[in-house]
Amino acid sequence: MVAVVYPPDPHRVAELFRRFESLSEHPKTELNYTSPYTLVTAVALSAQATDVSVNKATEKLFAVADTPAKMLALGEEGLIPYIASIGLYRTKARNVIAAARLLLEKHGGEVPLEREALQALPGVGRKTASVVLNELGIEPAIAVDTHVFRVSHRLGLANAPTPDKVEQQLFEVVPEPWLTRAHHWLILHGRYTCTAQRPKCPACPVADLCPSRNFYAEAAAAKVSAARRTARAKPAPRSGSKSR
Ligand code: SF4
Repeated sequence: MVAVVYPPDPHRVAELFRRFESLSEHPKTELNYTSPYTLVTAVALSAQATDVSVNKATEKLFAVADTPAKMLALGEEGLIPYIASIGLYRTKARNVIAAARLLLEKHGGEVPLEREALQALPGVGRKTASVVLNELGIEPAIAVDTHVFRVSHRLGLANAPTPDKVEQQLFEVVPEPWLTRAHHWLILHGRYTCTAQRPKCPACPVADLCPSRNFYAEAAAAKVSAARRTARAKPAPRSGSKSR
């Protein structure tokens, strides 16, 4: 990992987000939803699961239960078959049903659109609340998941060791006009370009603004030469030897 100079040069940061904006002006979550309730449910289900797997499950689930009342009527045992392909499904099922009950009892079946009440729902932590509030345009928030954490470090936007501290640093360096959309750009960049194992630096649209680009190019080149060295060092099979 490249040592990150923090705080980063504001001109470089501004150019970075101008670039993201020119590539995708209105980035959106890849989770499918039709209402604040289906959004908060989908985000809660997506912890430690891919958006693709959640969308597959919610396509059928939301067809039968897209409100707290319908979800509560479905019940935990009724919900489990819909989400059994998602990690931690038993805990998630328990939380989704408990949240539906709380929404009906305390909020008239509506999702409260402010942080404290959202975070009081079972299964809704700070990160889920941030994603929901940001997605609905209520509060700029940058939920730091594994992609955002990695990309922020590689791009030299943050150097803190924990997601909460990275979130604070991002809030300090990302200029206001791009704050609401920064989470999506960073997550999508991490998902498709700046991937964990093999970042696609040669094809990266912000490589010229990235302090890590040479590090990863050098690491990739070193791997190729190591593989070549190993291949050269392997003794050639003796003629006449049997293969099994
Ligand atoms: S240049 Fe490479 S390390 Fe930097 S953001 Fe792009 S993909 Fe990630």
